[in-house]
Amino acid sequence: MSTFKAPKGTYDLLPPDSATYLAVREAISAPLRRAGYGYVETPGFEQVELFSRGVGESTDIVTKEMYTLTTRGGDQLALRPEGTASVLRAALEANLHKAGNLPVKLWYSGSYYRYERPQAGRYRHFSQVGAEAIGAEDPALDAELIILAVDAYTSLGLTNFRLLLNSLGDKECRPAYRAALQEFLRGLDLDEDTRRRIEINPLRVLDDKRESVQRQLVGAPMLRDHLCEACKEYHERVRELLTAAGVAFEDDEKLVRGLDYYTRTTFEFVHDGLGSQSAVGGGGRYDGLSEMIGGPALPSVGWALGVDRTVLALKAEGVELQLPAPTQVYAVPLGEEARRALFGVVTELRRAGVATDFAFGGKGLKNAMKSANRSGARFALVAGERDLAEGVVQLKDLESGEQRAVALDTVVGEVLSAQG
Ligand code: ATP
Ligand code: MG
Repeated sequence: MSTFKAPKGTYDLLPPDSATYLAVREAISAPLRRAGYGYVETPGFEQVELFSRGVGESTDIVTKEMYTLTTRGGDQLALRPEGTASVLRAALEANLHKAGNLPVKLWYSGSYYRYERPQAGRYRHFSQVGAEAIGAEDPALDAELIILAVDAYTSLGLTNFRLLLNSLGDKECRPAYRAALQEFLRGLDLDEDTRRRIEINPLRVLDDKRESVQRQLVGAPMLRDHLCEACKEYHERVRELLTAAGVAFEDDEKLVRGLDYYTRTTFEFVHDGLGSQSAVGGGGRYDGLSEMIGGPALPSVGWALGVDRTVLALKAEGVELQLPAPTQVYAVPLGEEARRALFGVVTELRRAGVATDFAFGGKGLKNAMKSANRSGARFALVAGERDLAEGVVQLKDLESGEQRAVALDTVVGEVLSAQG
């Protein structure tokens, strides 16, 4: 029995598949970098309080899913379950919002941890790329972020995803709606946990995935009918800008999402090939979060896209990313002298930007050529004592099988031009 086992609900990224994950992170971040978002990196853990105050005491993330620990020094920390609270904390700590250039636009990429019931597309350790635009209230900013996410998915070749859109109102209109919803929900037949939720965060009940709950929600008051003029107007602007950009969306009046801090624009991207873990990304406006964690008023908007589920979505659609071969040239030395000479050529090729690998470990010709083929390289460089005596190496095209001698001191140029 093997003792090598990753913890439950986690998995390792290994070559060659790991290259797809890197490419997905790259594809999601590229549109952000083109739009003025700067890279931010925060620690993998924070004070528990940041999440309990920021994400919300009543959310599943805080009550059930957070990995918490007490340090030897007695600090209460949590492995980060999401990115927004940390990024906002970092921006406030560095006074980025005081530099006079709002919004502060940041993107991040990293690991997140939630103690969930592991299943396909739901893990205890997963990876997100996210973006936050801090300190501006402008429908164009909400639209910008949504468009950038759509562009990211599209650049990966995904087509089978949908954008769900809603507005959650603001501190003007949400309280009255909240009361009306509570009134409605209190009259339903619900379990203890859900009844408690009605009192703490009734909007979350709308998000309940269970059929027994959804059935009873028919006829529930909808926020759409309670939005104040300012929120209606704001939402309309966002919708217009998305439409003008050719971005299709579906109005989903029950979309509330799992975190407490959202206001106004809320959205989720779902992919239709993923079964029940269909959300590939989501986000929204969080105008009150900064104050909730003790900062000044800083209306903001952001999203996080799940890298794991995006990779699953690519698989579901049968999309193969066009990734460069990890190795272009594979060097096969025959004998000690050839090892020294070819190792030098390998270093030169790498310095010239050619992905090159070497038959390490003194393999014989047959084995080494097997490795060359397995590496996916287009060319093999083979050299034995006789070649060296003539000052040449054999450049073999592994696709056509053609082979020719090239002078040792011109190998780099020859390989570069053979590559085209
Ligand atoms: P879900 O409703 O599926 O639990 P969520 O609302 O909790 O998702 P967010 O907090 O919005 O998810 O995180 C953004 C994205 O991160 C999700 O859309 C999803 O792609 C990904 N994600 C969230 N939790 C997990 C997880 N446990 N495993 C893998 N990916 C996840
Ligand atoms: Mg969740």
